[in-house]
Amino acid sequence: MIEPNYFDHEDDRRDLIAGVRDMREAVSQPASRAVVCKAILPGPSLQTETERASAVRSLSTTGYHPVGTCVIDVDGDFEAVLDSRLFVSGVDRLRAVDGSSLPDQVSGNVNALIVMMTEKAADMRWGHPPLLPDHPGETA
Ligand SMILES: Cc1cc2nc3c(=O)[nH]c(=O)nc-3n(C[C@H](O)[C@H](O)[C@H](O)COP(=O)(O)OP(=O)(O)OC[C@H]3O[C@@H](n4cnc5c(N)ncnc54)[C@H](O)[C@@H]3O)c2cc1C
Repeated sequence: MIEPNYFDHEDDRRDLIAGVRDMREAVSQPASRAVVCKAILPGPSLQTETERASAVRSLSTTGYHPVGTCVIDVDGDFEAVLDSRLFVSGVDRLRAVDGSSLPDQVSGNVNALIVMMTEKAADMRWGHPPLLPDHPGETA
């Protein structure tokens, strides 16, 4: 079970509140008038920092893409949870292969990436040669 502590850090609150302010500023510009009719959510009455903070807290949702709780030591120069072949440090013959083993958050959705990583891990497990980057259907 992951407790993500949303808004626990002041930077997260500050950035999202600033994002609401900047978005309202952008859509109030003359260039936006042709496509923007009115503010619906958060509503037009929202003016103060406190009101923006309250709106951010009540309206924000997660993208459901938690990743990266098991850091991979790609270069072998620091002690991490996983090595570059996804083996768990200090545990014999155990790999972690799921969202937790992604090194970082990607800008898009994660599911396809996790499926690709598990395919790669299965290949490593069975000793299959790496696929060619430009011809993914073929092996070297
Ligand atoms: C509501 C929602 C919508 C999403 N929409 C998208 C989307 O549109 N596109 C996208 O790319 N991603 C989406 N995601 C994210 C994506 O689904 C997940 O990031 C991805 O499925 C994570 O894969 P995983 O293998 O890490 O974990 P999971 O898919 O959660 O797999 C974990 C598996 O481990 C099993 N398990 C847990 N504990 C044990 C145990 N003790 N013993 C044995 N088995 C166990 C679970 O039953 C489960 O089958 C969404 C997620 C959510 C929650």
